[in-house]
Amino acid sequence: MHTTVIRNADWTIAWDTAARRHIYRRNIDVAFADDRIAFVGPNYGGPIDRVIDGKDRLVLPGLIDIHSHPEHEPLYRGIREEHGVRNMHMTGLYERSQAFSAPDDDARAASAEFAYCELLLSGVTSLVDISPAWDGWLELFAKSGMRGFVAPGYASARWRLDNDFELKFAWDEARGREGFAAALRLIEVARQHPSGRLSGVVSPMQIENCTAELLRDSYEAARERRIPFTVHIAQSVLEVQEMIRRHGKTPVQWAQELGILGPSTILGHALFLDTHSWVRWWTKTDLPLIVDHGCSVAHCPTPFARYGQLLENFGDYLRAGVNMGLGTDTTPHNLVEEMRKAAIFARVAARDIAAVTTSDLLNAATIGGARALMREDLGRIAPDAKADLVLVDLTVPQMRPARDPLRSFIYHAADRAVRDVFVDGQPVVADHKVLTLDQGDAANRLADAQRRMLDAVARRDYLGRSAEQISPLSLPLSSPPGPEPTSVQENPAPRAPRASNASAAPCGY
Ligand SMILES: [Zn+2]
Repeated sequence: MHTTVIRNADWTIAWDTAARRHIYRRNIDVAFADDRIAFVGPNYGGPIDRVIDGKDRLVLPGLIDIHSHPEHEPLYRGIREEHGVRNMHMTGLYERSQAFSAPDDDARAASAEFAYCELLLSGVTSLVDISPAWDGWLELFAKSGMRGFVAPGYASARWRLDNDFELKFAWDEARGREGFAAALRLIEVARQHPSGRLSGVVSPMQIENCTAELLRDSYEAARERRIPFTVHIAQSVLEVQEMIRRHGKTPVQWAQELGILGPSTILGHALFLDTHSWVRWWTKTDLPLIVDHGCSVAHCPTPFARYGQLLENFGDYLRAGVNMGLGTDTTPHNLVEEMRKAAIFARVAARDIAAVTTSDLLNAATIGGARALMREDLGRIAPDAKADLVLVDLTVPQMRPARDPLRSFIYHAADRAVRDVFVDGQPVVADHKVLTLDQGDAANRLADAQRRMLDAVARRDYLGRSAEQISPLSLPLSSPPGPEPTSVQENPAPRAPRASNASAAPCGY
């Protein structure tokens, strides 16, 4: 057994087991033996192999991210931030996922390694990675040192566009079944991984892209294995309209009819409920259904806010009784930024400073995520919990004055103050550097991979447009004397749609 003690930490966010809540404690020791926390309190007197000075440190439970797509989202940097389709109620999801896709497994590896580094550097110790399966995924996830929940995505249909206002579907049910079987096999390999840090989540990709049978069987497979089930649901207005067209029900109501709502269900986004101001369907049952079945919601504010969309609102979901967790649906993969945005956007949506508290956000990023993952041993600093810990540096300028270090961290410093990170008691970040992966090398490979992706855009887009036409640069690019500039172009005149050859690409998100 190897024991580490963080001696006399200035501040610790400890778990009050009796009150079942996080509390601040001052000047205590946190000791962990191998992968478990052994002691939380003053004057630890047991065996010690290593001492870490807790002066100028906030000891924080490792953060839990229950929704991410590392396989491709870093490839979208510089492309996605202002990309949206106004005729599709602002979402750019369908157009983008058809035109832009990770070109190969080297690109996926670079993208995932880059994302894992961002996540570790923002204090994430547990991650749900929802991606189409790719070669090398488990090995990289294990190498990162993070606690990895692989969620291999699959579906019975893919989105198809012939214009910019109508969402169509190309069905291939056999492909969905094959993807489901392959996902279960990969999850089993993850669960048997010698690191002991990998597990799985059963993940049919989107409610509107799966048959009822595939969704039911997926939910049952998760239940049998006692692992979570997740699906994207109520993530766009078009999706809600499509489900009402097909079933006369909202996506959440249809999910309830199928029997796939339960305590092991993580709903990806669940933003456009029947009560949402952009939907305003006549029923008022979506939120009560989510509550009554004990589901969790993975809230990822950034991608929606960029479209001009808000969850309405985080505080109402919480007070209704929903277990709220947080995710990083896009870059930056920075869960602390998501906590900050979730707080501010909830208050904007509610027009109420009291809509959510900083404590609510910490809960979502720790114990809320742990509950969603069915893991009572994560997200808290308490004896017998996993030794997944973040040491925040109170001396970085953005943390000072550290009168209330959690507020300094969430509203000011964020990842800049994350100094050291431990998962299972093992160091994965030390002195602001990732120990397990190479972010610089990943960034170089990511840039090359993005170029390969951009080269393929015109062949994938339904109008045959270039990346520059779909997502122009934010400023005009001054061109050298000579031929006509090509880097920035006005939106082209509409052309006749062309058949997409994107059928080999994975479903987007
Ligand atoms: Zn997503």
